[in-house]
Amino acid sequence: MTGGLVLEGVTAGYGAVRVLHDIDLAVADGSITAVVGANGAGKTTLLRTITGQLRPSAGSIRLTGGAGGKGGKGGEGGKGGTDLTRVPVEDMVRHGVALVPEGRGVITELTVEENLRLGGLWRKDRRAAAEVLTQMYELFEPLARRRKAAGHQLSGGERQMLALGRALMAAPALLLLDEPSLGLAPKVTASILGMLRRLRDDTGLTVLLIEQNVRSALAVADHGVVLNLGRVVASRPAAELAEDTDLRHTYLGF
Ligand code: ATP
Repeated sequence: MTGGLVLEGVTAGYGAVRVLHDIDLAVADGSITAVVGANGAGKTTLLRTITGQLRPSAGSIRLTGGAGGKGGKGGEGGKGGTDLTRVPVEDMVRHGVALVPEGRGVITELTVEENLRLGGLWRKDRRAAAEVLTQMYELFEPLARRRKAAGHQLSGGERQMLALGRALMAAPALLLLDEPSLGLAPKVTASILGMLRRLRDDTGLTVLLIEQNVRSALAVADHGVVLNLGRVVASRPAAELAEDTDLRHTYLGF
C-alpha cells in the first residue's frame, strides 16, 4: 500500500472550542512531513482529527494513492482517495493508517512479542503477519533480543521501537507519530528518527511526524509545517524551514 495525505480547510475542536482553523496540508506519498509548533499549537488535535478520534466540523481529509484496501465504506472516489472523515476510528488501520500515540501505547504487562502480534491481529493472512514479525526483529535488533521481556522492563528507547514496530505490523501506508522523541536521550531520538528515513527509503512509507524537538524533526523530514494557534503559518521544504531564523524565533522559540 502507498498513500499520501491531503487536508483541505479542516476545522476542528472540542465542543464549542475551535482549535484547528482552516488547515490545508499535504503529505506527499513516500515522504516524511514534520508538523512543529509551540505547546498548545494544536499538533495532537491535528493527529486526533486525522485518525478519526475527533471529527472535523468543516473540511476534507483524504488518503490518496493505492491505500484504502477495504473499499466501499470509506467513501473512495469523488475527489480521489479515501475520505478519512467517514472511516470509523477502529477501521483506520484497515485503510492503511497507523498511529504511534504520545506516551507510546505499549501494553506494559504484555511481552515484546505479544505487543507486536497485537499490531498484526487484524490481518487475516497469518503467514504474512508472521513474515512481518520477522522483519520487525530484523529492523529492531534490540527487540529481537528482548522478545520475551515485558513492556515495563524495556528502556524508553526500546519502548518507542516497540510502539513503532507494533504500528508497522499493520503494514500501513501512512504512519502518524505523536512526539516520538518525548523523554528519550538525543542519541536514541536520532536512531528512532533515522529508522523512519530508512523505512521511507526501503518501503515507500508515508510519515506524518508531530514533534516538539524541532531541530531533530526538521533534520529527518522532507517537508515541514509550522502550526501556530491552530493555523498553518508555514509549509516548506524542511531544510528551508530549519534555516529560517526569523520564523524559528517567532514561532519555535530558538
Ligand atoms: P502539546 O505539545 O502541549 O501537546 P499541541 O500542539 O499538541 O500541544 P493540543 O494538545 O492539540 O496542542 O492542544 C491545542 C489546544 O486544544 C490547547 O489550547 C488545549 O488546551 C486544547 N485542548 C486539547 N485537548 C483538549 C480537550 N480534550 N478538551 C478541550 N480542549 C483541549
